[in-house]
Amino acid sequence: MRLTDRKITIIGAGIGGLAAALAFSRQGAKVTVLEQAEAISEVGAGIQISPNGVAVLRALGLADDLAWGAPRARAVVLRSHRQGRKVLRLDLDQYAGPGQNFYFVHRADLINLLADAARQQGVKVRLLQKVDRVTSGVRPVVHLANGAQCGGDLVIGADGLHSKARAALNGITTPRFTGQVAWRATVANLQNHPAEAQVFMGPGRHLVTYPLRDSSLMNIVAVQERKEWADESWHLKDDPDNLRAAFRGFGGGAGAVLEQVEEAALWGLFRHPVAEVWHQGSLAIMGDAAHPTLPFMAQGANMALEDAWVLVDALRKGSSTEDGLAAYQARRRDRVAKVVDAATGNAWKYHLRQPLAWPAHQILRLGGRLAPQRMVQQFDWIYGHDVTGGTAAPAEND
Ligand code: FAD
Repeated sequence: MRLTDRKITIIGAGIGGLAAALAFSRQGAKVTVLEQAEAISEVGAGIQISPNGVAVLRALGLADDLAWGAPRARAVVLRSHRQGRKVLRLDLDQYAGPGQNFYFVHRADLINLLADAARQQGVKVRLLQKVDRVTSGVRPVVHLANGAQCGGDLVIGADGLHSKARAALNGITTPRFTGQVAWRATVANLQNHPAEAQVFMGPGRHLVTYPLRDSSLMNIVAVQERKEWADESWHLKDDPDNLRAAFRGFGGGAGAVLEQVEEAALWGLFRHPVAEVWHQGSLAIMGDAAHPTLPFMAQGANMALEDAWVLVDALRKGSSTEDGLAAYQARRRDRVAKVVDAATGNAWKYHLRQPLAWPAHQILRLGGRLAPQRMVQQFDWIYGHDVTGGTAAPAEND
């Protein structure tokens, strides 16, 4: 199906929505992105973009710019929390292909890269456009909070966890609190730590650190299990002392990094199940709108990038919109469901959770023998998959 001159409305200028906007516009479509925020922005924190996500950015012509501003990640190192003893070192170079490495990226840098490329390609990004609800159908209608309506030949909901497009396709449901909260912070990388993600695993919590930009910054993600999350808003500023208190006793350099934190934000981690229905008529959903995940495989944004590519590719190859969208869901659903399950399962390993209340050193010893193999298999099928089939950069209007 030719996408040239198709009028496409995308809800949400996150990583998924902007990547889809760029991919559609490279096929000659006329794309408008509706974003509720007053500016395209991201939290000042890091994100891991693995080779499967980099493959999409490379096919969109952005891999060189990504590589220019981000440290190439060399390894993920799993450590015990008290002494920081190494349990597993996963060498990331084994997943590297031509132009396809693993990067630690500042979220603001990635979102700016995508937004600039999309605008240069002619995508219109309209800010302060909060969508109130969506009506599905062959000509879907987007109802804005300001009373205006819009639509198009195709409407894509890339509007994240609280997606209105998901609600139109699957009914209105409230996201479920997963029993986990996450702090995010950045500090100066004073020790000039190597380009490795360090994962400190403790009972009911884990801490991840990795360098950003020219390695001058250190990114911190700290996850703790909690029974309740009472606050209405889904993330808030928190006193760094609360973060330090939650991770007191973490050694191997983790405590020293936490000492430097001056500002921290705290998230409640919420989820929906993977959506049953991803499309109807000319409306489809992607990214967190379709399959929010715990961040324990660092794959939410990578999956959104893969969705963006496959969505456009499936429509291009489909005989009709309905046919293309059906192929999109069929190509994506099993893989994302498996990734979401793998991320949920990682709580067992990262939080030393097990049924018999063994002491932590025993779990780590068991983990040292068994878990690495399984984890390496997980990494293999996630990172080793290239949804673009090695496309260097898509031919326009082909
Ligand atoms: P979002 O990023 O949520 O974007 C949705 C956009 O839609 C937003 O701009 C929003 O303002 C807009 N929007 C929402 N509702 C409306 C509306 N009604 N009207 C108009 N606009 C609207 N993933 C990785 O791949 N690697 C990582 O290392 C990683 N680390 C993470 C660490 C933490 C602590 C967390 C919480 C997540 C992490 N993730 C990671 C997951 C990743 O951040 C998300 O999966 C990803 O950002 C989803 O992208 P998206 O474009 O689908 O949705």
